[in-house]
Amino acid sequence: MLRKLSAQTIVAQAGIGQSAAHQDVVAPLHLSTNYLWDNSNEKPAFDYSRTTNPTRSLLEKTLCELEGADQAILTASGMAAVDLTLSLLTPNDLILAPHDCYGGTHRIIRARMERGHFNAQFMDYTAPSAVDEVRKTNPRLVLIETPSNPLLRITDIRKITKAAKAVGALTIADNTLASPALQNPIDLGCDIVVHSTTKFINGHSDVIGGAVLCKNTAQAEELAWWANATGVTGSAFDSYMTLRGLRTLNVRVQQQSASAGALVNDLVGHPAIEKIHYPGLETHPGHDIASVQQRAFGSLFSIEFSPTIPVAAISDRLALFSPAQSLGGFESLVSCPATMTHVGMPPAARNAAGIGDHLLRFSVGLDHPDDLLADILQALERA
Ligand SMILES: *Cc1c(COP(=O)(O)O)cnc(C)c1O
Repeated sequence: MLRKLSAQTIVAQAGIGQSAAHQDVVAPLHLSTNYLWDNSNEKPAFDYSRTTNPTRSLLEKTLCELEGADQAILTASGMAAVDLTLSLLTPNDLILAPHDCYGGTHRIIRARMERGHFNAQFMDYTAPSAVDEVRKTNPRLVLIETPSNPLLRITDIRKITKAAKAVGALTIADNTLASPALQNPIDLGCDIVVHSTTKFINGHSDVIGGAVLCKNTAQAEELAWWANATGVTGSAFDSYMTLRGLRTLNVRVQQQSASAGALVNDLVGHPAIEKIHYPGLETHPGHDIASVQQRAFGSLFSIEFSPTIPVAAISDRLALFSPAQSLGGFESLVSCPATMTHVGMPPAARNAAGIGDHLLRFSVGLDHPDDLLADILQALERA
């Protein structure tokens, strides 16, 4: 092969025609928990499925190719992936994390800090003082999440990784919201990428899963050791399903991003809307950075509605956006961060992060954008 394959080809080709036993075109699902040893001194490539499994391994290899990583660890959930990276910390180490990170991430970091597992500081990477803060605090890990959820704030990945590197810290990017279709943090200087594969990567809202992708093999070995020791590795069946979903990642994300952009353009200026958070808007803080580090602006946006209309009255009247947690699937969803996705955050931290009570987050699916626009307009009319 003369040139590097594009992401679309990588996912279309993963494991095709490589199974010797029955000449399967699509790679089979290996459910066996254990594998034969040729003799008792020679450990086979696959031995016990908590440690390694052929189906999981194929998904890991494919995700590595997509993200430019050297080694991957598939986990049972996105939270297991985030928590696994925390195993790199000892009680004297400091982790910096976004003040507006995913609610579950905020919760596990706080809980482990309170147990004395490590020190943690939550900060705003979009503040002008962010680089100084990284230098001054001398962290071991710098966790970033861009775009952020639900306000789609943009962190300058190159700038933060450079500052982290200068003080010998590793940068971990939670790339769930962008997905590998839109952004590759390792190419921008990050050491480790984590994903909730539950979202865009599987894309069909029927598997919970996660992944840790490492550029540097030393950390990968350490993390693989912890994953095996604690048993947080993902199941073979989930890996099979996730690879099946991943086949269409690029086409889904392109279509969903285009639909979200069109919806946002049509909703700007609506009298019931105070503000729309969407990186594709030129007025959005970080729009210029997103234009450089992302290939498109994504399928998520959030809207601050006029305080005179209760947000529940709007979400209850939507017919095509289902009220549910999660994001990035083929189905269109609406959620109220203050009572749903971010309820794990203390109210004071939520307010400090700018997540108010009049905010709704929309995850645009594969429905036709004209139908979705009509749905939002009728809900606003009746609310
Ligand atoms: C959903 C999500 C997680 C957690 O993933 P699960 O698969 O639900 O455990 C972590 N980070 C981000 C940004 C997410 O959206």
